[in-house]
Amino acid sequence: MSEQKKKLTPPRPKAETMQVEPHPKTKVKKVIAVVSGKGGVGKSSVTAMSAVWARRNGYLTGILDADITGPSMPKMFGLGYKDLISTDEGLQPATSITGIKVMSMNLLMKQEDAPVIWRSPVITGALKQFWQEVIWGNVDYMFVDMPPGTGDIPLTVFQSLPVAGILIVTTPQDLVSMIVKKALGMAKLMNVPVLGLVENMSYITCPHCGEQIHLFGNGKIDEIARKEGLPVIARIPIDPEMTAACDSGKVEYVDVSVMDGLAEVLPPIE
Ligand code: ADP
Repeated sequence: MSEQKKKLTPPRPKAETMQVEPHPKTKVKKVIAVVSGKGGVGKSSVTAMSAVWARRNGYLTGILDADITGPSMPKMFGLGYKDLISTDEGLQPATSITGIKVMSMNLLMKQEDAPVIWRSPVITGALKQFWQEVIWGNVDYMFVDMPPGTGDIPLTVFQSLPVAGILIVTTPQDLVSMIVKKALGMAKLMNVPVLGLVENMSYITCPHCGEQIHLFGNGKIDEIARKEGLPVIARIPIDPEMTAACDSGKVEYVDVSVMDGLAEVLPPIE
């Protein structure tokens, strides 16, 4: 039995084994990875809001959409195939109306709803190209929208890009403790600091009396934050206006002051 158990011990991935150089004309100061334990918790929305927050606070900002098979960034920023610029030197990211640079698989596809049915090595290849071959120019903060979980793509991002910090997105009904622990475990293995937790869909505000209703309970995230010694950076309410803005390419019109906690945790730009 114990022999069998030994055989099943998974190999431990190593940190910083394959960091790849970006394009010579790319100068990214801090790469911030946005992760979640599972899909649908609002990781992409939080990535977009973080980027909008950084841009509003005067930083040169980029988004690398590492969710290759489920890309959602272009739609949120109202960008598409026509917005990618191809030059003799290489591809330039699309630029949003407020100047956020975005690179995503969906920008390479004429038909935005065409599926990407690729095996892992091809996906990781595309991801590395987004970093290595795209001419990003000067970027202070690059937010990476990771696919959910701790699989091949997140591993590639951590091993290939100089990730300076991680934001973990959860929802109250999520299995917060387990999911945060998995993300923390991966971060530790990759030697990347976790900047803090974001609780999305935290509550709804009653339109009549303004009371905050915690539909899925309260306090779980505080408990895990306390246990792990991490800050809760933001608690984002369920907001139909945000859904509408994201779905119609207008995320840059959203009030993102709920993300002000980022000021305390983002690594400073020299
Ligand atoms: P993920 O990247 O984790 O799969 P998304 O950011 O794509 O999740 O969000 C899934 C859906 O939920 C989207 O339609 C998005 O607009 C919506 N959504 C996310 N967060 C909120 C929120 N706080 N309020 C309302 N809708 C939200």
